[in-house]
Amino acid sequence: MLFDLVIEKLSGHDSTGKVGKINKEIDSQVSINDVIFTIESGKGTVNFISKYNGIIEKLTIDEGDTIKKGQIIGQVSGEKAEESEIKAGESNTKKASYSFGIAKPVIKNYDVDVVVVGGGPGGYVAAIRASQAGLKVLLVEEDNLGGTCLNYGCIPTKALVNSIDIIEKIKRANEFGIEVDQIKISIQKIMDRKNEVVNTLVSGIAHLMENNKIEYINGKAVVQDENTITVKAKTQESIIKFNNLIIATGSKTFMLPIEGSENKDILTSKELLELNEIPKSLTIIGGGVIGMEFAFIYKGLGSDVNVIEFFPNILNTLDEDVISCIKESAEEKGIKIYESACAVSIKTSMDGSKIVEMKVGDETQYVTSEKVAMAVGRKANLDSLDLNKLNVNLNEKKNGIEVDDFMRTSNPNVYAIGDITNKIQLAHVASHQGIVAADNISGLNKKMCYDLIPSVVFTAPEASQVGVSEKEAINKGIDYLTGKFPLMANGKAQTMGETKGFVKLITDKATRKIIGGSVVGVHAADMISTISNLIAAGVDIDEASHVIYAHPTVSESIHEAILDLDGRGIHFSK
Ligand code: FAD
Repeated sequence: MLFDLVIEKLSGHDSTGKVGKINKEIDSQVSINDVIFTIESGKGTVNFISKYNGIIEKLTIDEGDTIKKGQIIGQVSGEKAEESEIKAGESNTKKASYSFGIAKPVIKNYDVDVVVVGGGPGGYVAAIRASQAGLKVLLVEEDNLGGTCLNYGCIPTKALVNSIDIIEKIKRANEFGIEVDQIKISIQKIMDRKNEVVNTLVSGIAHLMENNKIEYINGKAVVQDENTITVKAKTQESIIKFNNLIIATGSKTFMLPIEGSENKDILTSKELLELNEIPKSLTIIGGGVIGMEFAFIYKGLGSDVNVIEFFPNILNTLDEDVISCIKESAEEKGIKIYESACAVSIKTSMDGSKIVEMKVGDETQYVTSEKVAMAVGRKANLDSLDLNKLNVNLNEKKNGIEVDDFMRTSNPNVYAIGDITNKIQLAHVASHQGIVAADNISGLNKKMCYDLIPSVVFTAPEASQVGVSEKEAINKGIDYLTGKFPLMANGKAQTMGETKGFVKLITDKATRKIIGGSVVGVHAADMISTISNLIAAGVDIDEASHVIYAHPTVSESIHEAILDLDGRGIHFSK
């Protein structure tokens, strides 16, 4: 039920007062006897006390406003207390003769065009896009807004990568003519800074929800039927009727089912982001993107790091020359890499250290370290919603929700985006799928295309790749040309002392169009977008070579790689 909040009592015989501190905001929960705000007057302070258990729906006052007896200053939806339960407003020193009891949650009904479940980079972007199209949108997230990406993935890892970058720069300060006596690393302060960055961005998303008039409910979405989900919270139960649903429930860490992996002290990426002591040594099982990023982070913090990779190479999907560059840098820093190595068990020794047993060919090898982390991929969160009730099918491999190019599932009113689809588990893919889904719901006819998805690894140096890789060109039998330029020959890279790496472009020999590229080296993550644009624009070598690049920039290496496709590089010849 909806109740008016009425000013009934002021101090003494005052007929007006001023609003003091407001403790509750619109949409916040109130319980009986909570002080919603204080009322100040010459004769003292009175607490404006809640007579309800419920949600504040409306509050029309600001701190400092003059108010008078009888004035309605807001509304609460919920339940009214018995008079005997309500405290007097005048003094909170009086002993109250009330009991709270167990408050029943308020039931709130919603009827929306689109409900999005999951507030990660897929879900929140889809919600904004749908709202921009004039649709009534509601977003449900059970944890923090921003999902894995902001809270446990892309952003916190990159905050740590940047702290390590500072450490590396200070270590090399002497090269730049600066003497630094001692480096003192505080893991606590590094983690605090990381948390600050995360919190700033998470609250930014909360503002985006507000600005875009998206209703946001914090809680776990539960499917009731094909058009209804509910979210139960302590004080509110939400019943949401929807025309369209976007499932953006993401993924979770996967543990190799080997002996010892069930042990609670085996770390995942989540715990690696929260350690408050730097381990003396760390073994990471999995030398993919996440594993290698953490290998460089913890090596940078001072741990002895081992990486165990099942495939013949770490970062197995990248081109050989890119992998070699990163592997060389990792080994120079002292990261120990075991490739073609299959971890078979993790045992704990008497002193608590961990022993990983692995098979390398026919040989059994052991590696001992203080901590062991698992970074062997992520699993779609398939059990977080009842997909049967929604009539939503899984894909052939049963490892993701089946979607068409329009992000539609087997139920035409239900869309799925992001890691839950298990297409490509990257934040920018989730966001773009979100835009495609929202556009289709709003009546546009948009298809998702996976041909130009950039992938980046934030090691030191960084590496990135887009379009057709050299590996792929060979496998597909494409008649191709490569153009390559080493950062060693780039002026800006020299000034930065960052000469490791190169830019490599791939063109189709017949059409001379640029079809792919890789960058390894400083700014590789940012530079890859230029190559994406060249490919998307469908330009050939001649058109691409007429674009002028600012000097001195690392991106001039892209221009040089374009010129090299015709063997006409200016600053480097093979
Ligand atoms: P998520 O971000 O996982 O969000 C899903 C959300 O749904 C979660 O917040 C979850 O709480 C919520 N949810 C689930 N079920 C329910 C329910 N029933 N009710 C309510 N809410 C629910 N990608 C990159 O592109 N670049 C990177 O540098 C990068 N680094 C990474 C580093 C690490 C360590 C990790 C783990 C991942 C990284 N990723 C990176 C991958 C990226 O984080 C994911 O691809 C991305 O977050 C997927 O977005 P999503 O919206 O599909 O799902």
